[in-house]
Amino acid sequence: MIHTSKRVFIAAGGATLFYGMASLFNPGLRSAGAANRRSFAVTRTDEEWRKLLTPPQYATLRKGQTERPFTSALNGEHRPGRFTCAGCQADLFNASAKFDSGTGWPSFWQALPNAVLELSETANPFYGTEVLCAHCGGHLGHVFNDGPKPTGLRYCMNGVALGFKPGPA
Ligand SMILES: [Zn+2]
Repeated sequence: MIHTSKRVFIAAGGATLFYGMASLFNPGLRSAGAANRRSFAVTRTDEEWRKLLTPPQYATLRKGQTERPFTSALNGEHRPGRFTCAGCQADLFNASAKFDSGTGWPSFWQALPNAVLELSETANPFYGTEVLCAHCGGHLGHVFNDGPKPTGLRYCMNGVALGFKPGPA
């Protein structure tokens, strides 16, 4: 009997450890609950998002996954214009705030006013603070405090979560 109980206990501990490790390597898992507790102007069911988005867009915007670095065509996008949310097409960043961070993800030192939501409860020096689209709640990436002047911020965005509209700033 004692032996059996001990095995059950170890199995439960292992599951907790596994979830902890998974959370560590996929920060999106940690904050999905925080995002779900908020309400947004653009709301869709999970099924609607699945139909609307490509599988990579869905995995990032709705499940918080991080794209592999140096995979987004938007890394090389340097024209004037606006970067938008791939989920709801809202304007998020002016192209004039984009800079080459060398990380392999599109990076900006400032978001447009009221365009993004920063989840302070997820703040972490290593993973940064999770950034959502303020209009649809889609996961965009993270913001760090090691960016260039004038803000010192680095919005590290998943290119798959963004669109681009060329045009005047
Ligand atoms: Zn959005």
